[in-house]
Amino acid sequence: MSWHPHLWHPTTQVATSEPPLRAVRGRGALLELDDGRQLIDAISSWWVTLHGHAEPTIAAAVASQVTELEQVIFANFSHPQAEQLATSLSAASGLERLFFSDDGSTAVEVALKIAWQWWRNRGEDRPQWIAFDGAYHGDTFGAMAMGERSLFSAPFDPLLCPVARAPWPSTWWHDPLVAEKEEAALQALESLLERPTAAVILEPLVQGASGMAMVRPGFLQAVEQRVRQAGALLIADEVMTGFGRTGALFACRKAGIRPDLVALSKGLTGGFLPMGVTLASEQLYQGFISGDPTHTFFHGHSFTANPLGCAAANASLALLAGAPERYAGFEARHRPHLEALAADPRVERPRLCGTIAAFDLKVADPGYLNRSGRVLQRLALERGVFIRPLGQVVYLLPPLCLTDDQLAHCYGVIQEGLAAL
Ligand code: PMP
Repeated sequence: MSWHPHLWHPTTQVATSEPPLRAVRGRGALLELDDGRQLIDAISSWWVTLHGHAEPTIAAAVASQVTELEQVIFANFSHPQAEQLATSLSAASGLERLFFSDDGSTAVEVALKIAWQWWRNRGEDRPQWIAFDGAYHGDTFGAMAMGERSLFSAPFDPLLCPVARAPWPSTWWHDPLVAEKEEAALQALESLLERPTAAVILEPLVQGASGMAMVRPGFLQAVEQRVRQAGALLIADEVMTGFGRTGALFACRKAGIRPDLVALSKGLTGGFLPMGVTLASEQLYQGFISGDPTHTFFHGHSFTANPLGCAAANASLALLAGAPERYAGFEARHRPHLEALAADPRVERPRLCGTIAAFDLKVADPGYLNRSGRVLQRLALERGVFIRPLGQVVYLLPPLCLTDDQLAHCYGVIQEGLAAL
């Protein structure tokens, strides 16, 4: 393993990191390295690989689309794959309009820009954004502004627009304080909403990057009610939670909320191709239809609605529709393993939502730079499992194809790693 002379890897401090592993093949839940080793990809390669690597029906759909139409300018053209995807996602989400972009960050940017300009087109001044403590919405400027100010954003903080922030009452098994935390968060949100607010943005049910921080559905319903009372828009960032990750097709459905805008990416194409979409209500869409050219949504990416990405997404949605039990039943598969782990004195805050299982290592100095997770990561790697803890937060977010034996192996490796820590 060595560093390539011409590559620059994301979120990686070369001075203190191991060089990257070299992947040459992916099949199902497994990644194969150039030295022949096989690893279980227990975090779906940054939460994108939904069904498994090289899933054959998605591979075939992309291959067949490549020779039909690989790309077309979407400002002047439509195409059947985009139309099919818009129809399916609209039916599945209840939001009528779909705007394409390239990834999770741009899907969030588009949601923010639609929300902001919608109010402007109506001639209303609503200068405030509200987001939650611990939020992460992407690495571009608008998305970064919505995210909690952190190590990641620090060099850019002076450039980020102001965002009001409400507490996120994250919870775990046997959390005695959850109701109190929720009440305090709602009170704080209510007082923030006294100012004219364009939109409130949240990651429904699970905040991903801040450490798989889970909230109860009832809290999100109460948030929605406060947002509606204040007349603000609600944006759900389902970039991580979408497509079955929380046990339902969309976390918003599971939580019982109906946002005005939803950002999707990651699992959208089954993890095959980069693509983002922003779903919007018909009411928002209509706010841009006008004889006045300044009411136009002037936003567009070169690869908008790339037909290969759309073909992959249509094939992925068909897989989800054909076997919903694969995501709906994953929580029950995690549960006995997580229960066993939770008995370990080094484990705290066990939590579970659909396909996502997480816990914290008991440490004195929690945070992203805490090394305990890194040590566990190295131990797991030696036993053939790839995990990527967030500081002291250890989680599994595997592809849906993971077998029972592979799941048991992941938990076994973590248990052994705990003992060796
Ligand atoms: N929103 C959420 C909730 C995410 O988890 C992420 C990525 N981890 C993003 C947005 C940004 O997505 P991308 O990395 O594809 O730009």
